[in-house]
Amino acid sequence: MSQLSPRSAVFLDEMGIGTRWVLRGGAAPAQPESSDPVAEAVHVEPPAPRARSAVEPAAPAAPVAATAPAKAAGADSMAWFDDAPVPARPATAPAPAPAAARPAASAAAEDDAAWFDDVPAAPAPVRARRESAMPAVSDEEIAAMDWPSLQSAVKSCTRCNLCRTRVAAVPGRGDPQASWIMLATMPTAEDESAIEPVAGEPGILLDNMLRALDRSTAQGAYVTNLVKCRPSNDDGSDRLPSGEELAACRPYLDRELQLAQTRVLVTIGQTAAKGLLGGAARGAIRSYNGAPVVATYHPSDLLRKPEDKGKAWSDLCLAKAAHAGRR
Ligand code: SF4
Repeated sequence: MSQLSPRSAVFLDEMGIGTRWVLRGGAAPAQPESSDPVAEAVHVEPPAPRARSAVEPAAPAAPVAATAPAKAAGADSMAWFDDAPVPARPATAPAPAPAAARPAASAAAEDDAAWFDDVPAAPAPVRARRESAMPAVSDEEIAAMDWPSLQSAVKSCTRCNLCRTRVAAVPGRGDPQASWIMLATMPTAEDESAIEPVAGEPGILLDNMLRALDRSTAQGAYVTNLVKCRPSNDDGSDRLPSGEELAACRPYLDRELQLAQTRVLVTIGQTAAKGLLGGAARGAIRSYNGAPVVATYHPSDLLRKPEDKGKAWSDLCLAKAAHAGRR
């Protein structure tokens, strides 16, 4: 069987003659090779195991009770433009929160280009589990930080009330020289346990998305959140960050973008674009601090709704053109 690059697979997708999609972790459906020349032509090498990058925080020494099933929550989802197996990731305690816990895309946010603008900002419940004696670092101090001091400052930050309720702050991860930035809204409970943005099954899919762009968090890409601490309700469920929390954490993002070699910023999930720009739509290039911004789906949304992967790929192609200076 001939083997084409991911780009070729994507090209075939964009031409409407599509890649053969198969279940991850399962056998490909029986199909005579000669009966489908397109499926025969499209074969993408499986991804290499994910490697941690220079600015990625070390994983906590959590007891590993069991290895997470390679395809637990996403057993019925499809691989990212290929039939690559999903590498198993160490389980973290507690068990991954169900994808539905993320306050992201709603059923109303179908595929229209305005799917950010009707998402109301959530009020921040007043909750004080603990006080902090740490003085808050100033905007000016953040603006002068290097990568190590930035990561350290995030971990001990007291600039907003989320420091009182977080289990752990979640700094960004990836290549410190990245020119491609993936921006989510906030850590989930699973991210907080793993102390990395976009962890678990969504993180695996995000890695595959980056790999399809010839990038990874080890080289060329960096993943971070608008707010580095998880906003949660009194019952422990996720909530959206408030305007105050977004504003308090923004200097960290601005410094991350400065320290990296940012050439494009891809917001993942409808609330990320809204939180960054106040509103945004897929299919358009916006700008933040001089960097082009393209909005697309969060990987957890794509795991719930794999049929949107084609539209997400279109977004990434737009971002790639912006990154190359063609748009
Ligand atoms: Fe600091 Fe940001 Fe965490 Fe607020 S969300 S405590 S500003 S790191």
